[in-house]
Amino acid sequence: DPESFDRIKKIATDYINRNPWTSQAQRKYGTLSIVNITRTSGILPVRNFQDGTSDNAYKITGEAISEKYDTRHHTCKPCTILCGKKGKFDGEEMPVPEYETVGLLGSNLDIYDPVAIARWNRLCGDMGMDTISAGGTLGWVMEATEKGLVKTNLKFGSPDGVEEALLDIAHCRGFGADMAMGSKGLSEKYGGTEFAMHVKGMELSAYDPRGSFGQGLSYAVANRGGCHLSATMMVMENFMCFLAPHTTMSKARWTAFFENMWCCVNSLHTCLFTSFAYTTELTIPRFSSWISTLIGMQFMPGILMAAVDFSVIYRKMWQAVTGISISKSEFMRAGERIHVLERYMNTRMGVTAGKDTLPARLLTESRRCDKKNRTVPLDKMIAKYYRIRGFTPDGRPKPSLLKKLGIAA
Ligand code: SF4
Repeated sequence: DPESFDRIKKIATDYINRNPWTSQAQRKYGTLSIVNITRTSGILPVRNFQDGTSDNAYKITGEAISEKYDTRHHTCKPCTILCGKKGKFDGEEMPVPEYETVGLLGSNLDIYDPVAIARWNRLCGDMGMDTISAGGTLGWVMEATEKGLVKTNLKFGSPDGVEEALLDIAHCRGFGADMAMGSKGLSEKYGGTEFAMHVKGMELSAYDPRGSFGQGLSYAVANRGGCHLSATMMVMENFMCFLAPHTTMSKARWTAFFENMWCCVNSLHTCLFTSFAYTTELTIPRFSSWISTLIGMQFMPGILMAAVDFSVIYRKMWQAVTGISISKSEFMRAGERIHVLERYMNTRMGVTAGKDTLPARLLTESRRCDKKNRTVPLDKMIAKYYRIRGFTPDGRPKPSLLKKLGIAA
């Protein structure tokens, strides 16, 4: 229905153009606008997640990079948000690295040189390597080198040898063949599992959950492993500040809720960044104050989930394109079905509760940036999450849940 689609497209564009994050921060600085949030809230990984901020982190902010490297739009087309950027680094035009890249190949290695990070970013892209996993793995290698577990020339704070290491990984040559196994494989071979920053073999992205407890739960239970996009709890805890980051209250419910929601949004083949505008404007700038949203999300999650229609824009778009109408509860049920089906496949392959955990560093070590000892209280959230989900205590979907969702008879 082209007319309906044009109508809802106009409304959606207005949402994006009104929302400060999508229309200003993202449009101007891209995802690098996140650096100022994470460095000030203590969730930026520094030295393989040994710390949560650095005095040098201002050098990799979107503001600093756009001023110094003549950045311009370089985006997916067509897009209204326009988060992608390119810039001139030492006279050479290159894509501006994304937030996750400056977090993992930058601060996580204690390196704050945007030119070097932009080169490594391009190299990883050319070699088909994920910059999060590459940076997380090199963080482990630098720390293991310091501790004498492996012998390399890689050191925190030094760019020397990083480019060669990335090429060695890409071509599986020399020690690169071991590094290509990632931090899980390396630590199982050489020791140092307690500081191998992965979940289910996938390196963590650039949010330290000691400053974002819901994100810790979300990393631990994500079907893909240490993925920030499964429930994006750091957005609610640290970006929007609608949930207190250092409490476990309501985190299990919201993690399950956003897992379902994002399963649907990602299945629509639309960019997840639209959700900043489409799902938050409904409750925030127009109809209520920040404090009432915070109180609602923190203390009355069930009421808020029932009262607010977070999915209305996505559902109307779906209806205009397919002609199939879908209610709010059907939409959320579809997301639940996707998530639980993935979980069911994982558990059948032996990925059960024992794998729903975090690296020991996050559960036992505190950081310099925290005034008091702070670790992720995962055990306080995980049993509740299983109950809310309808999983058994060992993390398997119950037969009644599989039947309800039409996954198994
Ligand atoms: S589609 Fe998404 S990722 Fe691509 S430029 Fe737009 S906001 Fe950025």
